[in-house]
Amino acid sequence: MAKKRQTFSVPPTKRQSRSTVRMEVIPEDIDTRGISVIHSSVAPAMRGEGSIDYTCGECGVVICEGMNPARIQHLAFDCPECETTNRITSPDVV
Ligand SMILES: [Zn+2]
Repeated sequence: MAKKRQTFSVPPTKRQSRSTVRMEVIPEDIDTRGISVIHSSVAPAMRGEGSIDYTCGECGVVICEGMNPARIQHLAFDCPECETTNRITSPDVV
């Protein structure tokens, strides 16, 4: 009955809604010790049951779909599309 509208700002009162977070692009010359870089040839590289989709900071492709931000800190991902290395920035969702 009600028309569904897509918005990019997700109201905090809504549960189960997905939000999209752009990952931070890591410069090539950065020291990545302590960070696990995950290489994947397909997108998304990871799929979970959380509520956040993480996209490449460069090209915007979804690299991690439905993630729980608490579980993927200290991880970085090579984008399957543009080969940019991205990492998860600090979660803004609790
Ligand atoms: Zn990309």
